[in-house]
Amino acid sequence: MAKLKKVDAEIAKLIEEEKKRQKEGLELIASESYASSAILEALGSVLNNKYAENYPNKRYYGGCSVVDKVETLCQKRARDVYGAKDYHVNVQPYSGSPANLEVYFGLLEFGDTIMAMRLDHGGHLTHGNPMNLSGKAYKFVAYGVDPKTEQLNYDEILRIAKECKPKLILCGFTAYPRTINFKKIAEIAKVVGAISMADISHISGLVIGKVHPSPFPYIDIVTTTTHKTLQGPRGAMIFCKQEFKEKIDKGVFPGMQGGPHMHQIAGIAVALKQAKDKKFQKYAELVVKNTKTLADVLMQEGLKLVSNGTDNHLMVVDLTTFGKGRGVFAEKALESACISVSKSTTPNDPSVPYYPSGLRIGTAAVTSRGMKEKEMKIAGKLIAKVIKEFCTIEMPDDKEKRNEVVKKFKEDIKKNKFILQVKKEVNKLSSKFPVPGIDDK
Ligand SMILES: *Cc1c(COP(=O)(O)O)cnc(C)c1O
Repeated sequence: MAKLKKVDAEIAKLIEEEKKRQKEGLELIASESYASSAILEALGSVLNNKYAENYPNKRYYGGCSVVDKVETLCQKRARDVYGAKDYHVNVQPYSGSPANLEVYFGLLEFGDTIMAMRLDHGGHLTHGNPMNLSGKAYKFVAYGVDPKTEQLNYDEILRIAKECKPKLILCGFTAYPRTINFKKIAEIAKVVGAISMADISHISGLVIGKVHPSPFPYIDIVTTTTHKTLQGPRGAMIFCKQEFKEKIDKGVFPGMQGGPHMHQIAGIAVALKQAKDKKFQKYAELVVKNTKTLADVLMQEGLKLVSNGTDNHLMVVDLTTFGKGRGVFAEKALESACISVSKSTTPNDPSVPYYPSGLRIGTAAVTSRGMKEKEMKIAGKLIAKVIKEFCTIEMPDDKEKRNEVVKKFKEDIKKNKFILQVKKEVNKLSSKFPVPGIDDK
C-alpha cells in the first residue's frame, strides 16, 4: 500500500489495524469470509473507472467493449459453476439487499403478497422487516420453524400458502442451521400458482461444493450474495428461469440501479473461477465438518443449540437457558477475547430484537485459514467457557436500565482478567494460520 500511505496515511493506518484484527482473531461470524489476493486485485483495478449502464452489447455508454467481455464471462462462469445452464443470470446487483428488492420490484406490484420466513426464526431484513422497504412495499405473510423440531415444516408452509395465496414464496435464510428442501418449496409454489424464490446468500459456497441441496433446477428465482461462503467480493447475483429474464433485468436496471460496478463484477468472475477448482469442494466439505465438530463441543459443554445441531456452516446457540436477552453479553465478551460472533434471535425470542437471546456462530472463515477438528475443539471449549461465565448476568426489562447494564458491561469486559487469558489463547491459536487475502502469496 505504498501509494496509499503517501496520499492518505490515516486511512492506510486504519487498514493496517483492520488487517491485524483479522489475523489475530477467530472470525466466526457466519456471513463473513476472506476474499483472496487475486480478488482484491481485481477490485482495486481500473475497471472501477468505467460506466456501463444497461447490459453487454446494449450499453448507454461508449468504450464498453472490454467490460462487455468481463460481464459476459462472469455470467458464463456463474451458470457453469452452479449447474444452472438453463437459467439467465444478472450479475449487476450491488449487494444482496438490492438484489432481493430488485426481484420483488421486477416481478410484482406494490402490495402483492410474499411468503417468507419469520425474521426471528432466521429470515433476512429484506424478507419483510417492517422497517425495510420490502416490508413497506409488499404484504409479507410469515412462516416459521416448527416449535418442537425448530426446523422447517413443509406441510405447514403449504397450509399457509393455500390460505394467503402469495404471488411469491421465498426461502433461504440468514440464521437457519439446517438444509432447505428446495424441491418441496418449488412444489408448494406450483400448487398455489406462486413464483418460487430462494435466497442462498449464506449457503452459496455449500451449494457449489455439493454439501447442501441445490435450488437448481427447481426454483424459479435464485438470489445470492457473493461475499459469504462463496468467498468473493461484496456483491450479488440473480438467477432466473428464462421466462423471467426481461422482468428481472429491468428490475435491476433501470428499475433500481444505475451503472454496474465493473471491478466488482470482475472480482465475482474470479471468485467463480476459484470456486470451480477441486480445492473448493474440499473446502465446502470441511466447513460442514468443522461446524458439526464445533456444535458437538458446545452441546457437550451443556449449551443448547437451536434445532439441536447443524447441517450447514452455522449454528445458533440458544441462550434462553440462561435467561432472556443474553446474546449481547456473549458477543461482547467473546469480542474482547478476539472471537468475532454475532448475537442473533432465537425462534420466538422472549427479548427485544436489539438484545436477542441467541448467538450465531459460523466456521466458513476460519476453515479457509486451514483450521480443522483440533482447532474447532479448542475454540468450542473457549467459547463455552466465556458464555458460561458471562451469560449469567441479569438483563433488566426496563429500557434505560438495560442500556446502562450493557454499557457498563462493555467497559468492564475489556479489562476482565478471565477474558484477557482467553484472548491470549485465541491469539496463539490464530497466529499459526495464514489468512487468505493477507498472507497468500
Ligand atoms: C446477507 C444476506 C442478504 C443481504 O446481503 P447484503 O449484501 O448484506 O445486502 C440477503 N439475504 C440473506 C439471506 C443474507 O444472508
